[in-house]
Amino acid sequence: MPAHKVFPWFIHSLAANLSTACPAGCTHCLWKARQERIALHHAVMTQSQMQRLVAFGKSFGIKEVVASGGEPFSRPEALKTLSALCSRNLMGLHAITSAIWADTPQTARTMLEKTGPWSRLAVSIDNFHQESIPLKNCLHVLDASRLLGIPVTIASVEGADDVVRELPDKTRNEVPIVSQPLMGMRLMQWNELDAPCINMSVPYCEEGDAIYGCCGDLCEMRNESPLFFGKTDELPQKGIAEDRITLVKYLRLFGPVSLYRELTGEIPDGTSPFTSQCELCTSIFTLPQASEETTRFLNREQTRVRIALAEAVLFSNTRQEVNTVNIKRS
Ligand code: SF4
Ligand code: SF4
Repeated sequence: MPAHKVFPWFIHSLAANLSTACPAGCTHCLWKARQERIALHHAVMTQSQMQRLVAFGKSFGIKEVVASGGEPFSRPEALKTLSALCSRNLMGLHAITSAIWADTPQTARTMLEKTGPWSRLAVSIDNFHQESIPLKNCLHVLDASRLLGIPVTIASVEGADDVVRELPDKTRNEVPIVSQPLMGMRLMQWNELDAPCINMSVPYCEEGDAIYGCCGDLCEMRNESPLFFGKTDELPQKGIAEDRITLVKYLRLFGPVSLYRELTGEIPDGTSPFTSQCELCTSIFTLPQASEETTRFLNREQTRVRIALAEAVLFSNTRQEVNTVNIKRS
């Protein structure tokens, strides 16, 4: 089976778990239980692992590294190292932060200056985070980013974004807000789950050097995961197996419900037993024979044609979006 040494065209970023720790302690934290399990076999990413991560990203055409966690700003020295490596290799550095650390405007500004250069930042603001994190901390990071010329967005949650309205009008009008659907808090309807997985656009580095197709729950299967690509030091030579790349494309284009239907023959309806797409994915790949069945399904001529057509539509829509943005900016 051929191996790929580039990612599909829709992948431009690579995320890395810098630290499983997060001092915010939100009661709703969907990551907490997972981070605690990961911490059992996780050591913080070292400088040499960061070097291998950036070398791997560069050889696969990655344009930007996303510092993830836990809370990435709980390791400012690591961020400083990573930002230097990224800029030396002409890659951007992006992070999503809760802003728990930014208790004054000066702290926010000093931290961003010390850890940059940043290509962009996102600050999580929603009703759940703001139960534990003062909104003023978020404002400090938003203001400091704009002062330093760093593109910044607000990352919020659909239906849990009332708190965003408490920000000053000027901030709300000037900072783009990107809202994601609410996941992990209630059982979802099957039709809500039936959507492409947009997280498949960002491969993920866990345990310092293991690369997965996404940051979702499938990483917990470690090297048994159908989305485990390999280690950062081997991938530039070995490449990524064709079947893994095809699975990435399928989940990005059609999502896990479509795969569930194919593998089980069921057409589920009504309320699902899952609170997120990731839980559904885990349930699919723990079915007996799931890997073999998935490989068989993805290798069918009909599936390959469907993937190629959907990919062409996504490519065309993406180009139209880019053109629209360019027209608006000019
Ligand atoms: S800021 Fe995010 S990672 Fe940290 S405790 Fe809150 S929800 Fe969890
Ligand atoms: S839904 Fe599946 S493919 Fe998407 S992020 Fe979750 S585990 Fe990964």
